[in-house]
Amino acid sequence: MIENALEALTLLDEMGIAALCCDQNGRVEALNTAAHTLFKKIPALKGRPLSKIKGLAALATVELSDTPVEIGLLDNKLYCRVHAKSTALGQKIFSFEDVSAFRDHEQLRTDVMYMVVHDLRTPISAIKSYAELATQVGPVTPQQQQFLNRVQQAVTTTNMLLNDLLDITWIDSGVPIQKQEVNIAYLVHTIFESLEQRAHTHGVTLHITIGPDLPPVFGEPHRLERVFSNLLVNAIKYSGEGKSVYVTVSRAGQFITVSIADNGMGIPSEHLPHIFDRFYRVPNEDHRKEGMGLGLAIVKAIVEKHGGHVEVQSEIGQGSTFMVVLPLETPSAS
Ligand code: ADP
Repeated sequence: MIENALEALTLLDEMGIAALCCDQNGRVEALNTAAHTLFKKIPALKGRPLSKIKGLAALATVELSDTPVEIGLLDNKLYCRVHAKSTALGQKIFSFEDVSAFRDHEQLRTDVMYMVVHDLRTPISAIKSYAELATQVGPVTPQQQQFLNRVQQAVTTTNMLLNDLLDITWIDSGVPIQKQEVNIAYLVHTIFESLEQRAHTHGVTLHITIGPDLPPVFGEPHRLERVFSNLLVNAIKYSGEGKSVYVTVSRAGQFITVSIADNGMGIPSEHLPHIFDRFYRVPNEDHRKEGMGLGLAIVKAIVEKHGGHVEVQSEIGQGSTFMVVLPLETPSAS
């Protein structure tokens, strides 16, 4: 606990660290010279509520913590790693580490990666189209048809990999989610319908239950769609002929929960702690399905960016239940 705010600001200043102190009501009480320099474009900071200062308002959502958070300030022209600490008098001291240069480098890497992955889609859709057209321009032998089917399957798998890589690039870019009202029940139902055919092909039956009076959550619909489609695709993929998958959307207090339960092969307990790691796949015969081990890592990262979390319960031979818990209020950090 910091005893004296002004002393702390001076000490940080001597170390070249910008710092700012707010009173118990969230008004700027003092800032050191380094912070004056960092925020020189904002006139007269003192006495103003932090949440009302254009360019710094995001700071009002930073929680007290030992771990710094990285946020965009000054309309995202400045990226800082921010520490928030409290003083004995209930003031809040923010210290700032300017990481904009590092971010620019990261951004370039992300942009290049995004471009490469994005540009690969065009030749891949051409392969898909020509594989389809080949059957329409003349008779094909059964063996040629078999080869063309394999091309189609390979294209579908490649597209899934590209989507995973695009998601990972977005997650690593640290770009905050663009929040808007999302009707989760509608979103899950749409994904459910779009995967019914796939489930049918695998001999899996899908069931859905949607609870009453579900308020919207705030988030990015496209990203949340990836969460539920990854989980549902897995449930279908790791179940099998004659199995069932149950999707349930409901409200639990200030949270919306979406559970996806299958009665498939289950996950051995020693592997459960690792399944959300990137590229982790359960190393046994039954689990040898196509995939790269990125789906659950993407699910976890997206849900956490929305201020929620994912729970999993699984028993070998009995099945697995994945539960996504999303807060109803706008999360404070993304
Ligand atoms: P992928 O499916 O591409 O391997 P994921 O990250 O989606 O990657 O999943 C990681 C691993 O977790 C999978 O390889 C599989 O072994 C296991 N897994 C995920 N979902 C299920 C499920 N519903 N039932 C059984 N195992 C699962």
